[in-house]
Amino acid sequence: MNHFHFINGKFTRGHSTETIAVDNPATEQVIATVPRGTDQDVDDAVQAAKAAFASWKRVSASERAEMLHEASQKMRRHKHEIIELLTREEGKPLPENEEEVVWTYSTFDYYAELGRHSRGRVIPSTEDGVLNMVIKEPYGVVGCIVPWNYPLLLLAWKVAPALAAGNTVVIKPSEMTPLTALQLCELAFDHFPPGVINVVTGDGTTGEALVRHPEVPMIAFTGSLSTGQKIASIAAPMMKKLHFELGGKDAFVIADDADPELAARAVAYAGLINAGQVCTSTERVYVPQALAGRFIEDLVDLVSSLNLGDGMDPNTDIGPMIGTRYRQKVVDHIADAKAKGARVLIGGNIPNRKGYFHEPTVLVDVNHSMKIMTEETFGPAIPVMTYTDFDEAIRLANDSIYGLGACLFTSDAKKARRFFEEVKAGTIWINDPLTDNYAGPFGGMKYTGGGRELGEEGLDEFRETKHVHWDIEARPKSWWLPYHK
Ligand code: NAD
Repeated sequence: MNHFHFINGKFTRGHSTETIAVDNPATEQVIATVPRGTDQDVDDAVQAAKAAFASWKRVSASERAEMLHEASQKMRRHKHEIIELLTREEGKPLPENEEEVVWTYSTFDYYAELGRHSRGRVIPSTEDGVLNMVIKEPYGVVGCIVPWNYPLLLLAWKVAPALAAGNTVVIKPSEMTPLTALQLCELAFDHFPPGVINVVTGDGTTGEALVRHPEVPMIAFTGSLSTGQKIASIAAPMMKKLHFELGGKDAFVIADDADPELAARAVAYAGLINAGQVCTSTERVYVPQALAGRFIEDLVDLVSSLNLGDGMDPNTDIGPMIGTRYRQKVVDHIADAKAKGARVLIGGNIPNRKGYFHEPTVLVDVNHSMKIMTEETFGPAIPVMTYTDFDEAIRLANDSIYGLGACLFTSDAKKARRFFEEVKAGTIWINDPLTDNYAGPFGGMKYTGGGRELGEEGLDEFRETKHVHWDIEARPKSWWLPYHK
């Protein structure tokens, strides 16, 4: 497999003299090296994408749809190789990666059809003989900057709607997981005209070159808040269109009528899938005093039954974290919480083995003075706090700078309604956390950033809206100056 940039339909070393090592987080072994893309590499990719845009934007929506479906078909055919490489570069267990790959190709199918059938509209005119239309246009070259935790899914949520809308793309995958993006170029994107899809590998400096490039009018970015803030400050003077999906600190509230055993299973899943490295991970749990004993006991039992291991092992429930920097943040948050009075009921340590593992951890006696309840932890730690009444639970759920997702467990429709109306988050899950829907817009409020992926909103992010007002007969108007003529 090629481990170079993919520019104008070809794999190339480009101008890079430096490389970045990609390791398997379960073994710490280097599995490949990729070039650290330079400004010149980024410019080559942008020029290729710009040249391709001139014809791609004129390709009919139906032809574009067929090419997106073909990409999806190829991913289906190569599904097992893709799942395996994804597991080796990202670390989560095989079944989770299978789900990611299915979501990836299905997203291409979804946007193939949405792009084919959503082309703008005619609106009522205020004058006879005048045609008013709302039409949708692509931006041009879109820079897609992707994180490591769902490297293919988050690529698909950007690239599929961007292409369906008629844009061309330059993708900058995460330096930790660039291999599957390159694999798709080889296995699934080879039928696109050269320059329509380009990948430049590299780290933040490469991403920044893409953001700074004057011929990239739109940046679609998923990643951390601090990187998003940097991108915003660079792009603002150029008035670029920015699409942001930033961090989260999702609350999971258990109402007093909920089944504590079922809630414990849902929390273990939502807090520990992908070793807690999901933007919508359950990062803090609120349980009423009356249910706390039973809920916590069940949660600790469940967590104690989970197997930590290499994602390639079919017995593994939880894989490694992506790297030491991310694991250290979990260690720091747990230490800060313990210093302020929290108790660790299970886990809390780095196991003595190769790989960037951290034990799945449950903490109690936590409060909002602790980092683990206010800053994104992004790891396998579940802090559980008790509350007295539902007003307090809603207030605590809203006590965050982030607003990505929130979950409630209840059978009480009144509580459900209060929760989805009053909690400020882009997605509200009731009794079924972390379930996405291709047609359901996904994104955040507050510091999580605006913009939505998936759904029609996710296509519209990649299109400019233009209003056309057309007097077909070109008649003179009584209100034109000078009035007396
Ligand atoms: P990150 O911000 O470190 O990196 C994301 C991408 O940005 C990488 O490709 C990186 O190379 C690039 N980058 C870094 N510095 C850059 C710069 N100055 N200019 C341009 N590009 C730059 O984030 P990460 O650690 O890869 O991902 C984890 C974060 O992503 C978490 O905060 C998580 O919540 C967030 N995330 C959010 C969502 C969502 O939908 N809201 C989904 C997944 C992950």
